[in-house]
Amino acid sequence: MEALPQQPIRSEAPLQLLLFVDKRPGSSERIRQVRVCLKDLPSEYPYELQIVDVSEQPHLAEYFKLVATPSLIKIHPEPRQTLAGTNLVAQLKDWWSRWQRSVEDYLADLAAQSDSKPEPNGNSEIRSIAQSSEVLRLSDEIFRLQREKEELQAQLQFKDQLIAMLAHDLRNPLTAVSLALETLEIGSSLKESGGSRLKPELIAQLVRHARTQTKALDRMITDILQAARERNAELRIQPQETDLGTLCLEAIDHLQARITAKAQCLSTDIPSDLPMVYADHERVKQVIVNLLDNAIKYTPERGTISIAILHRTTQKVQVSICDNGPGIPPENQQHIFEDQFRLQRDAAKDGYGIGLALCRRVVQAHYGQIWVDSESDQGSCFHFTLPVYRLLPIVPLSPTH
Ligand code: ADP
Repeated sequence: MEALPQQPIRSEAPLQLLLFVDKRPGSSERIRQVRVCLKDLPSEYPYELQIVDVSEQPHLAEYFKLVATPSLIKIHPEPRQTLAGTNLVAQLKDWWSRWQRSVEDYLADLAAQSDSKPEPNGNSEIRSIAQSSEVLRLSDEIFRLQREKEELQAQLQFKDQLIAMLAHDLRNPLTAVSLALETLEIGSSLKESGGSRLKPELIAQLVRHARTQTKALDRMITDILQAARERNAELRIQPQETDLGTLCLEAIDHLQARITAKAQCLSTDIPSDLPMVYADHERVKQVIVNLLDNAIKYTPERGTISIAILHRTTQKVQVSICDNGPGIPPENQQHIFEDQFRLQRDAAKDGYGIGLALCRRVVQAHYGQIWVDSESDQGSCFHFTLPVYRLLPIVPLSPTH
């Protein structure tokens, strides 16, 4: 097939034709036939035939609302006319004399207009294919750049929001530590000035409290660093404005047959006024499916399972998936999120011990948290949080938090 021009050449011929083809083997032959036919037809006016490969210039095909190839379109003089089908040459012959007349009328009109109001450039009204093609290409490009800009703006805004959220979260344990230290300091200065001293139990309690909070701080910072690594590593997250309620319903739909097969009772609490979250649709759905799948798997027949979504703070939404199954012993509640960790108790059940590890990676990559509340034989509640998607200004941190 001959090389087709990417950018049509500027032309001012009064009769302008576009021949749309695709990459099928017969296309070159069709182009040749149309060209030969045009050469043979009696032509009183200059014309231009432009060949367009639809796969290379899809925006043109869209603009001309093309439904089939090959198609021959008379784009000037107006009105536009489209011939389509395999017998293009026959149709072209049929229409040719009328197209010639339309050029004649157009030129006569133009002459009459320029008699009454001379134009600096007599042919300037002829819409060049080159110009329309270029305009279309540029508008496609503008549209693409616009979308890119909006996405980047949303990402930047989300980053600001995250920083505010993380600073807020970090500030709580930090405030607790500094309060404990201040109390200890006041206690020791009172002692030096002969005032009443702090009781040893209170001192021990304050030190313990400060230590726990420091550990919490350390864990949060580790989580943040890990999340940043995950986002850069293999786990590609493509966050967008996401409706968590819909995701939960899709996950339930996916597993409904298994719930029914075990005669389990599923209840949902999905408020209708939930804010959107900023999350990767598929990944988060995978998390919900994994947690729900575990609840079904580890809960006996006729057991009960629930899914609830809670707008926890202005910045976070929490999903909780609970069951009344065997629960998780306290000493294993952290370990179950590790890679390939399974409870001995469940060795006979299908599984590889990777589901919860993946859930943790996905949630952390969204700067969210995942944890389990459980007591043996009392069932388990798996919770995870995701950041709210907001395009509103960020509320400044209050100095007391
Ligand atoms: P898998 O289910 O493939 O073993 P997971 O990583 O999903 O792997 O879970 C790790 C372990 O945590 C399971 O083997 C099971 O012992 C325990 N577990 C997970 N979900 C529940 C649940 N809802 N109830 C009781 N135990 C659970």
